[in-house]
Amino acid sequence: MVFAGIVANEPVDAAKVAKAEKIILGLQARLPAYTAKGAGPFVAAVYDRQGNLVAEAANSVVNGRCSHNHAEMNAIHLAEEKLGTYDLSPYHLHLYVTAEPCVMCMGGIMWSGIEAVYYGVPSKRVEEITGFDEGYKPDWQQAFRERGITVYGNIASEAGEKVLQRYMDEGRTVYKPERSQSIL
Ligand SMILES: [Zn+2]
Repeated sequence: MVFAGIVANEPVDAAKVAKAEKIILGLQARLPAYTAKGAGPFVAAVYDRQGNLVAEAANSVVNGRCSHNHAEMNAIHLAEEKLGTYDLSPYHLHLYVTAEPCVMCMGGIMWSGIEAVYYGVPSKRVEEITGFDEGYKPDWQQAFRERGITVYGNIASEAGEKVLQRYMDEGRTVYKPERSQSIL
């Protein structure tokens, strides 16, 4: 296994990277099923420490008509609903997502009690490929470390970039506030 490009806020653990790569490649593979319903292009899943799936979701900003329906927020929401709690920390849950969390999801993850985050394509590449605005996140991985939240990134990111490029090539929506428009 090659660790070139992997970023982490702890010494890199080969077993964690291998497990995360398998899960994130699976999330990438399931994206077409979500885009067919008007969702995507990001997919996230919550697993417990034993590797059991708790919740999985794609972005549903466009088809759900809600600006905060990002994949991470949706997956966390589903997990909390399923477990009947606003605090996931007693369950020791891990979030896997096909791209680096944006500024909103960074906050959402922090507030949820998620124990570890594994992401694919880094924000800089997401912005270059798609034009999504990932927001301002100074030293977020260090800030998570200070709160005991593990972060690993750039996992299966080359394959993830191809998935995002395909989304763009299909002419799908890059949802964001247009700011210049007015209905008043
Ligand atoms: Zn987000």
